[in-house]
Amino acid sequence: MYDAKMEYLRKNVFAYDDHKFTKTYYLWKNRKPVSIYPHTEPDQANAYYTRTEKGGEIFFFSFINKGSNERIFTCHSFDIVAHESGHAFLDKVCSEFNDNGRLITRSLHESFGDLTAIFLALEHKGIRDDLLRKTRGNLSKKSFLSALGEVLNANYGYNQDGIRDAIGDDDSFSNSNPRSFHELSQVFTRAIYAILAQTFEAMSQSDSSRSKSRTLF
Ligand SMILES: [Zn+2]
Repeated sequence: MYDAKMEYLRKNVFAYDDHKFTKTYYLWKNRKPVSIYPHTEPDQANAYYTRTEKGGEIFFFSFINKGSNERIFTCHSFDIVAHESGHAFLDKVCSEFNDNGRLITRSLHESFGDLTAIFLALEHKGIRDDLLRKTRGNLSKKSFLSALGEVLNANYGYNQDGIRDAIGDDDSFSNSNPRSFHELSQVFTRAIYAILAQTFEAMSQSDSSRSKSRTLF
């Protein structure tokens, strides 16, 4: 949802500030809230969601970047916050997925988290414009949007590649065995991302009067 003047958010979300964020606002449909812990110990390059009796919990850890010696807070990463929120949301609407320990189902959960990060980012005009500038309007090119959780790789002093990527050659991991659900999740993520990129390309060509940012939105 694009809300340039923030009128919708002001009216429907920030208005709750007047009520000091009453519990009603945070409760999920099943009346159980998700607690968020942005500064969890010990040090580790990780974050995770878990369901609890009381509802759910999301833990964000921090770690020292071995290259720069800076402390990296995973709660400052758009991708990571969106990804874990995606897990929490999917668990609320389809709890069977979390209960099912099958590799393919767990992979789908991971993919849902990554796709949440991608589509949430595209709701913001500034991010869309930046993406279009950096990719020259070609979403099939690797970018900061397709790279997921880059900051976790920075831990090891690597480049800005993500720990997963929405663009890539599936053959690169088709022979690895056993496959992790994180790795396997990229099959679905990449398929959806490819549809996004191709649909955007087709829509841009069929209606050039509309701005690319608007089309992408
Ligand atoms: Zn995950």
